[in-house]
Amino acid sequence: MDTPVFPNYIDGQWIDRGPHFENRNPARTDEIVGLFAKGTARDIEDAAGAAARALPAWASLNAPARGAILYKAADILDRRFEQVAADMTREEGKTLPEAKGEVRRSINIFRYFAGEGARLAGLLAPSERDRVHMFAIRKPIGVVGLITPWNFPSAIPAWKLAPALICGNTVVLKPASAAPLSAWRIVEALHEAGLPAGVVNFVAGPGGELGQALVQAPPLKAISFTGSCQVGDRLHAEASKRRLRIQLEMGGKNPTIVLADADFNAAVENTVNAAFFSTGQKCTATSRVIVEDAIYGRFVEALVERTRQLRVGDGMQPDAHIGPCVDQAQLDTVLRYIEIGRKEAGAPRIGGQRLTAGDLAKGNFIAPTIFADVTPEMTIAREEIFGPVLAVMRARDFEDALRIANDIPFGLSASIQTTNLSRVFEFVYRMEAGLLTVNLPSAGVEYQLPFGGTKDSSFGPKEQGPAALEFYSDYKTVYLKY
Ligand code: NAP
Repeated sequence: MDTPVFPNYIDGQWIDRGPHFENRNPARTDEIVGLFAKGTARDIEDAAGAAARALPAWASLNAPARGAILYKAADILDRRFEQVAADMTREEGKTLPEAKGEVRRSINIFRYFAGEGARLAGLLAPSERDRVHMFAIRKPIGVVGLITPWNFPSAIPAWKLAPALICGNTVVLKPASAAPLSAWRIVEALHEAGLPAGVVNFVAGPGGELGQALVQAPPLKAISFTGSCQVGDRLHAEASKRRLRIQLEMGGKNPTIVLADADFNAAVENTVNAAFFSTGQKCTATSRVIVEDAIYGRFVEALVERTRQLRVGDGMQPDAHIGPCVDQAQLDTVLRYIEIGRKEAGAPRIGGQRLTAGDLAKGNFIAPTIFADVTPEMTIAREEIFGPVLAVMRARDFEDALRIANDIPFGLSASIQTTNLSRVFEFVYRMEAGLLTVNLPSAGVEYQLPFGGTKDSSFGPKEQGPAALEFYSDYKTVYLKY
């Protein structure tokens, strides 16, 4: 079968000026999922120009009519659900059920924000002055740049695109090079749904060149980025020179606190789920589990036993629980941190090596790895690894656990496992993270409420839920004497 070729999408046209880059299957690196047109700074310029030209008509189309197009795009994705999910497993490596869950989420996100088209509430307040009617309406901010990572290659583009569009903005989307196809499928659906030319533009290619061109594109008014702290910091520096509105969602080192009074088996299950599913490549994954002294030994044993039951393999296989690392660079990073962990904390209790038996040799597979007796100053307790590596840490009591949990620069997600209601509320008010879970895995969020972190993990307004509208729109306030 010929390898499919995926062009960029600029001003309503599919543009392929060549050359191409490969999108490879991380479970079988000899399989090319597709060839993508390698965009250039010129493509970004063209895309931003097209977005600027499309802006007046799109911004003045009534918001329910914009919503109708988003509903249509959601229906198109829904009809192709199986194919879009399979594409995601092949390009990113997550298991097929996980990919289906993500595609379902993207569809729901489009429907949710399509519905916002019929609301988009402004503000109304009573004036102190006689016969003055005052209100604030929402207006779009203009051309918006979206830069997305590979780990949620559909949901993250969806949760940026849908609110940007419903608010009346036009968009240039730059997807991650490791997994651009899932975002491409959304753009394809928007095109088929009748989105006017130039409203969404898609340019794939090298992040350094395209990111720089995007942040400098004259029509740009805002940028929403999800990815690493290094790239986020660089974009922030560039964007602030031009006073671009910016939103950054970046790295984490998310803790799960397990107290002695927790439902033991549920705590084991939630920790293993949050640490290893999606190969630990969720931004909200647990990478530190902080366990109260009284149950520490028993909990480590139970974690290891549960982890032993996980099957690593090609995500297309029905019995696989964990897929591969997304690419060679990510595999190398994880193996490097495992070596650091060995020096700091001794041999891992389980895992610690690349898996190469049989067909696994073709992919970027790593055994889920647990280090025990990790202490707060160790590198593996402080730096984001973004792979299936879990650090187990001992805490004297709840206060000690909370202190350890907060003692890092990141603040994306955090979880507590306990049956003590007071401790739950202490955790809710004092844990320094933007996303908290109680007796659930630290990973696994929904789209109806604000999403994002605090401290070094995030910058700017939150994403998703009603909060997303705050980033993608501005208020215009009117005082009217009658
Ligand atoms: P990344 O290397 O920062 O890449 C993210 C995006 O930025 C990609 O599209 C990338 O393009 C692009 N990029 C690279 N260099 C750039 C530059 N100089 N200027 C502008 N854009 C540039 O991150 P990643 O490896 O894809 O994703 C993993 C990271 O994302 C982890 O740190 C994870 O915690 C974080 N993440 C955070 C959240 C959250 O909500 N907080 C969610 C998901 C992931 P290329 O692909 O072409 O390099």
